[in-house]
Amino acid sequence: MKYTLKFLHPAEQLITVEIETHSPRENPRFFLPKWRPGRYELQNYAQYIADVSATDDQNQPLKVSKCETHVWEVEAPEGSLVRLTYHYYANQPDAGGSFFDADQIYVNGINLLMYLPELIDAPCSLRLELPADYELAMPLPCKDGHYLASDFHELVDSPFLAGPDLIHHRFEVAGIDTHLWFQGVCRPDLSRIQHDISAYTRAQIALFGDCPVNTYHYLIRMLPHSYRHGVEHQQCTLIVMGPGYALMQPEKYQSFLEICSHELFHTWNVKFLRPADMWPYRYEGENYSRLHYITEGVTTYYGDLMIWKAGLWTWEQWVEHINENLNYHYQKGGKDFVSLEAASFNSWTDGYNKPGTPNRKISFYTKGALVAMLMDAEIRRSTQDRHSLDDVLFDMYQHIAKAGRGYTAADFEACLARYSPLDWPAFFEQYIAGTASLEPLLEQLGEYVGLELCQLPFLSLAEARLGMRCTVENGRSTIEHLMPHCPALRAGMSLEDELVSINGLKISDNLDELLLMLEEEPQWEFHY
Ligand SMILES: [Zn+2]
Repeated sequence: MKYTLKFLHPAEQLITVEIETHSPRENPRFFLPKWRPGRYELQNYAQYIADVSATDDQNQPLKVSKCETHVWEVEAPEGSLVRLTYHYYANQPDAGGSFFDADQIYVNGINLLMYLPELIDAPCSLRLELPADYELAMPLPCKDGHYLASDFHELVDSPFLAGPDLIHHRFEVAGIDTHLWFQGVCRPDLSRIQHDISAYTRAQIALFGDCPVNTYHYLIRMLPHSYRHGVEHQQCTLIVMGPGYALMQPEKYQSFLEICSHELFHTWNVKFLRPADMWPYRYEGENYSRLHYITEGVTTYYGDLMIWKAGLWTWEQWVEHINENLNYHYQKGGKDFVSLEAASFNSWTDGYNKPGTPNRKISFYTKGALVAMLMDAEIRRSTQDRHSLDDVLFDMYQHIAKAGRGYTAADFEACLARYSPLDWPAFFEQYIAGTASLEPLLEQLGEYVGLELCQLPFLSLAEARLGMRCTVENGRSTIEHLMPHCPALRAGMSLEDELVSINGLKISDNLDELLLMLEEEPQWEFHY
């Protein structure tokens, strides 16, 4: 399949896509992906497709008809040449989207490139007609003006940035040709970034034994406002961050390193070492998996751990990141109701935004990271530090991923059992398939490494006493969150109720002050 992208309509933000192929069957059907790897929920890219048409080798029009939300059929005989042309409206400026205007271009091919299922494993080429003064940050190799991918999977796993003002810095670390690209206003300290990326890259390679790629690109879009989003790919990551002027400030830079280390770790853990449920990726619908506590949880844990092991964070900085995971897990209401496996499987309906049902959602990133840390600690404790979760990941990468297959939950459990005599079926039953409290294990871990698990009171009285969090807009206080079984729920309050008064005093943005003043009163009477 030969793809060409043209950037002719920046004001309308329309990218022109041309696909040329010999039809592998009569009336070929072109599919647009319904989701993108890294975000395990259905997308609606088809809504941005417009003006679809087709011609044959004589430039004569062919009839095109849409037969599903994301499938177009062209009337053409088997073996004949078909050219499909359409527009894509590129106005999704996050790390998984595509964006095009008069100043910049960035493209995630998974959003806008159609494929023929019969040719999904065949080599692809991509030609780009960019404005003359644009530079290009692109992970695919180029030959005679065509960027080459071994198959459609690699093509759509290779996003690119283009613009007149890219910053490019190239260096080698442990045999990996590493490229840093920045688009947008920022002043990166390139020598410091090179030092730090080199340090955690070496730590990651030491863990896995080698690296499955020999080139890696960091494609970084800096925005003028606060933002943070990254997406992993086999040979690159696309990161959108902001504000650009704050990049080298300590807190923002920590966050930058964290996301860079996390995304590189994915080169092994999910791009190469991947659950069998998604091997290969199937873009025409949901790829269910109960294993995202490994793909994202283990990656979240190790992304940070590698930075600490590389000597870039102090022990206190690393522990602060563990605290962030603990806070997130314990402040959301779903931990007693939803297991890691269920959260993973349900990502397709409930994975990323607000939960469909209040207090019935957990993050497989944060709980997955905590459980990964506990697995690591349990292996170390049960083997007097002779083994760790590192051995399990090394083993799975060397023996499963390199054998060219995906892994199952049984593979993971068997591998854990090879390195630790712990009762892993019971561990899985309690903490992965079940919702048992993590606290006993966290306390054991604390004793083992010299940390104490403390429960701190909420800073807000409304949260501490009533289990509620409110938003205030135009002087009106509205309930936005209620913890499960909290006093406010027991008193009959519901989400989105507006609080009018307490003991006759008007509530606006002063609820905590009123609660403090009325602390000694025998009862609180709300009107809402
Ligand atoms: Zn991730």
